[in-house]
Amino acid sequence: MTDTAPVTQDVMTIPRKAPEGPINLVGLTRDRLREVLIAHGTPERQARMRVNQIWQWIYGWGVRDFEAMTNLSKAYRKQLADHFVIEIPEMVSRQVSADGTRKYLARIAGGHEVEVVYIPEADRGTLCISSQVGCTLTCSFCHTGTQKLVRNLTAGEIVGQVMMARDDLDEWPRRGEGAGERPRLLSNIVLMGMGEPLYNFDNVRDAMKIAMDGEGISLSRRRITLSTSGVVPEIAKTAEEIGCMLAVSFHATTDEVRDKLVPINRKWNIATLLEALREYPRLSNSERITFEYVMLKDVNDSDADARRLVKLIEGIPAKINLIPFNEWPGAPHQRSDWDRIEAFADIVHKAGYASPIRTPRGEDIMAACGQLKSATERQKKSRREIAAETRT
Ligand code: SAH
Ligand code: SF4
Repeated sequence: MTDTAPVTQDVMTIPRKAPEGPINLVGLTRDRLREVLIAHGTPERQARMRVNQIWQWIYGWGVRDFEAMTNLSKAYRKQLADHFVIEIPEMVSRQVSADGTRKYLARIAGGHEVEVVYIPEADRGTLCISSQVGCTLTCSFCHTGTQKLVRNLTAGEIVGQVMMARDDLDEWPRRGEGAGERPRLLSNIVLMGMGEPLYNFDNVRDAMKIAMDGEGISLSRRRITLSTSGVVPEIAKTAEEIGCMLAVSFHATTDEVRDKLVPINRKWNIATLLEALREYPRLSNSERITFEYVMLKDVNDSDADARRLVKLIEGIPAKINLIPFNEWPGAPHQRSDWDRIEAFADIVHKAGYASPIRTPRGEDIMAACGQLKSATERQKKSRREIAAETRT
């Protein structure tokens, strides 16, 4: 085999802007970046240094134009511009809530749109990003679940949401300023927007590796939380290959109820899920798992549910995040009453678990969990499609 053969093969699989158009460098891992640079004329012996330089410009300084990469020769900058682009999703709208929450609409290739939400808090700023347009799953309380899966986002589109928000927050370091000199406005990422991240594993992993890379965006793996509905076979892989914090959409304490709320439970039931979760903290060396629990009136919110929940997760280092149901037009559920939520939280708390009730944020701009929608909303799932998913 010649030296160049595998490189050429790899280049073919990298998403291009157009069939023969320039390659977008955003979202390529360091190894892939090295490969495409070499395949387009960068001498192999320089490749390592070039990767470091270009990486720094893109992810450390937020630069999108090769011309601005002043530590590269003019000729080399031209060569880069001939073959590559640095592109992130386009921000098509931005709404700011009375409480400071920002909701962005980001347009990705093909004209699809995903929502991205920035939530400022006293001690952190969290960006909620999407991994898919729509979702293949059909959780009964989730608005995204009513939308067909249009496609997986690429790694560039996933990390690009973070870069887009950094642009808006004016968060890239300024000239003469070291990275980390200013307090970070965007300090945490949660993969809790549209889609099931573990059904787009490779792209999510590559994007999060880029977000964690110390030479760029540089977020610690403990500041990234991936939320899954319970794709059991991918959970150990998440620990090993990403190592971020894990949240799980638990939402019910019996298989009978969970089968209905989170239909993936029919494939991997509560016992199977818990087994995988028990292993996660050890495999990922993270302290605890977040159990998300959406509070649905008369469905999963009784004292007996709360007691069953603490019994089920016994021995797992955990925090239980109670989410008051965010209603959307046509939703088949109602939010539990506030005193019910508090009584539930109390039982969980007395059992020794942190049980914060997630304060709904950005309600005036429909920015809350499960309310995110997209231009593809019109492509609703049919009853038959929902029934098919529920049967699997
Ligand atoms: N697909 C992944 C991540 C996206 S959903 C998952 O299911 O975990 C992020 C969180 O919002 C999940 O816990 C989900 O169950 C919750 N959620 C979805 N719709 C909601 C709604 N209408 N009200 C409150 N929480 C909701
Ligand atoms: Fe998909 Fe998560 Fe919504 Fe379920 S809760 S339909 S897995 S986005």
